Amino acid sequence: MDFEKIKNFIKTQKIPAYRLAQIRSAVYEKGITSWDKATNLPLDLRELLKKNFKILSVKPVLIQASKLDKVFKALLELEDGLKIESVLMKPGKTWSICVSSQVGCPLGCAFCATGKMGFKRNLTTEEICDQALFWSDFLKEKKLGERVSNVVFMGMGEPLLNYQNVVAAVKELSDSDYLGIGQRHISISTSGVADRFINLAQDLPQVNLALSLHNADNEERSKLMPINKKYNLDIVKEKLEEYLARTSREVFLEYTVIDGENNGLHHLRKLGKWISEIKDNYLLHVNLIACNKAVGKAVETDEFVVRKFSQALTKMHIKNSIRKSLGSDISAACGQLAINNGRKK
Ligand code: SAH
Ligand code: SF4
Repeated sequence: MDFEKIKNFIKTQKIPAYRLAQIRSAVYEKGITSWDKATNLPLDLRELLKKNFKILSVKPVLIQASKLDKVFKALLELEDGLKIESVLMKPGKTWSICVSSQVGCPLGCAFCATGKMGFKRNLTTEEICDQALFWSDFLKEKKLGERVSNVVFMGMGEPLLNYQNVVAAVKELSDSDYLGIGQRHISISTSGVADRFINLAQDLPQVNLALSLHNADNEERSKLMPINKKYNLDIVKEKLEEYLARTSREVFLEYTVIDGENNGLHHLRKLGKWISEIKDNYLLHVNLIACNKAVGKAVETDEFVVRKFSQALTKMHIKNSIRKSLGSDISAACGQLAINNGRKK
């Protein structure tokens, strides 16, 4: 819902301003999904709103529930017919959502299904926020628990290539007049659009930053992640240092373990060296992800292989943890989101 547009509309139609608070309460607190159900508003206003505004700019086409974990995946249709995927999950005590920032992704990482489908367009601020509103309503409707507590930008797309809309969306999501999700509960994952790190430190210093590293050897990283040709590991290091100096926030280094590709002794040494040369590296934390089956190089990595890599890092005194992969039975795990003409690949 584009609340700013509604605000202007209320003003130009000379409707009393207190109606805005009622609209806000109906949508964000009560979780109504159609204007007809907003019974706290007079009928003529409901009709007027119905004619002019949609509550949700995303429409669920398919919702899948995982049999393995508390995970739901939605295929959402946008107003121009394009589709995105969005995930709701409960890895611990609270509900988190994994949102998309683009339709597809232009960066084409070798192991990622989204990258394989190419790039269609950036999502608007409204389309990003409405994924949260959609899941918030879903939780209410299914009586699954109170609210969405965490948001991770780890769905389809590279959030820092849709910078303005992502920043505006984070501000809106965290606004207590809307869903009120604290910025410390919001994480942005980037493949390393390094020029934007310092902007993020200025615009959203409370938001958690995750950097998808996956390989600390320049040549090998370029093969896995073509963006490394533009922002190589030296550039990423320099910009990361600036970010750390400015925010003093912990940064997660995402490392998808692809067996035989990036988990050898040489990779461990390179990773250890890269981290050791970074100023303020006490703020870095490696987050290991078992590679999920997606495309090309992405065959499933055994948990045992990831644990071995984790132990080796611990021996090198590098802080690390293993991220539990959720929802792989419905292709909802990291790197598995992709759409082909509305049909799942
Ligand atoms: N574009 C951003 C955010 C979306 S991808 C980024 O790349 O960081 C979210 C995370 O999923 C990234 O860390 C990405 O590297 C990881 N990922 C992609 N494909 C994967 C796969 N097949 N298995 C496990 N993780 C994967
Ligand atoms: Fe894009 Fe991230 Fe997938 Fe790479 S891993 S193709 S940057 S979504």
